[in-house]
Amino acid sequence: MPATQETPAATDRFALPDAGGHFGPYGGVFVPETLMTALAELGAAYTAAKNDPVFQSELRHHLREFAGRPSPLYFAERLTAHCGGAKIYLKREDLLHTGAHKINNALGQALLARRMGKKRVIAETGAGQHGVATAAVCAKFGFECVIYMGAVDMARQALNVFRMRLMGAEVRGVEAGQKTLKEAINEAMRDWVTNVRGTHYILGSALGAHPYPMMVRDFHRVIGVEAKEQILAREGRLPDEIIACVGGGSNAMGIFFEFLEESGVRLTGVEAGGRGLARGDHAARFEGGRLGVLQGCKTYILQNAEGQIELTHSVSAGLDYAAIGPEHAIYRDRGRIDYAHATDDEVLETFQLCSRLEGIIPALESTHALVHAMKRARALPKDKVIVVNLSGRGDKDVNQVQVLLDGRSNK
Ligand SMILES: *Cc1c(COP(=O)(O)O)cnc(C)c1O
Repeated sequence: MPATQETPAATDRFALPDAGGHFGPYGGVFVPETLMTALAELGAAYTAAKNDPVFQSELRHHLREFAGRPSPLYFAERLTAHCGGAKIYLKREDLLHTGAHKINNALGQALLARRMGKKRVIAETGAGQHGVATAAVCAKFGFECVIYMGAVDMARQALNVFRMRLMGAEVRGVEAGQKTLKEAINEAMRDWVTNVRGTHYILGSALGAHPYPMMVRDFHRVIGVEAKEQILAREGRLPDEIIACVGGGSNAMGIFFEFLEESGVRLTGVEAGGRGLARGDHAARFEGGRLGVLQGCKTYILQNAEGQIELTHSVSAGLDYAAIGPEHAIYRDRGRIDYAHATDDEVLETFQLCSRLEGIIPALESTHALVHAMKRARALPKDKVIVVNLSGRGDKDVNQVQVLLDGRSNK
């Protein structure tokens, strides 16, 4: 684990990205020519919407009425007592409609698509959480909706496929390659190239070509804005540490952004350590990754010497991706955000512990953040305060965990 570092220079969180979508050497726009115009149009439309008070108040309205914001900041009393050190608070994104933070971004982009006059929405999904959030907002606003999903993921997440179909989405299975998230993104981009006029692509994380990493981050900033207000009301001061899991990096950037300039608040992103850090066994991009380009942007990627994308593994589908959002890479370089990882075994244990001690079944993704938070709580005195972004609920994971635990007890 990296040592605590002070912010080296004043961080102007609004200085990034630049007009070309660069976060220092990371980010940018690496797409086929046919998408350059669409991305430029999207960037312009987003900038206009961002500065339009009517759009912002509409978004606030739907976040409250449809998504259920604000989400509570909850003091995890028994987890805290169990660790015996710093206080642990949970930002309860798990209580939002459709079960995770993803609805913040899906709502924002749906409103933007409507403003741009689009009638059709497409999206990719891995575990199905982003697909479900997208299907929900498409039903709400009356968009035609197509979700691309790897055939392997469709089999693993049959219940989420049924949820999307119930809400009127067409789910298209992707049979290429590993038949998982990466191939689903390729297929969604292919669809977008063909139908770009009437179609908006709701990308699900702080990834891809500009303006997506910035836009998705912005739609999740509400998490940190609320958390800051809530912890000030509750503790009368800022937290000592904020911890969030990092797949593409959207829930983490969402809660971190508001605190980037608060140099006394340590920010830590937790990646998937999987079965350990051997190649193919994890998705800890900052441990085994190198600079490269994948699906629209330059960032840290798990790849072999020839630049072929490596297999990844995590118990949680939402963290199981070979690239990390470009904004994370720059703040890691600057020493402003620290990164750690949690293994599948640690996650399975903490998943059960949080359920038993708090009556909250956390998503496997979010449990990665909890694992690290509990280590930190043990290391810190009782007057310190840690906030964990509980990005989603674990209802979607209970079948998988049951199978894994049964497999262990039969050994
Ligand atoms: C999708 C998902 C993640 C990972 O995505 P980020 O963009 O890194 O936030 C984390 N937690 C939950 C509950 C998810 O559904």
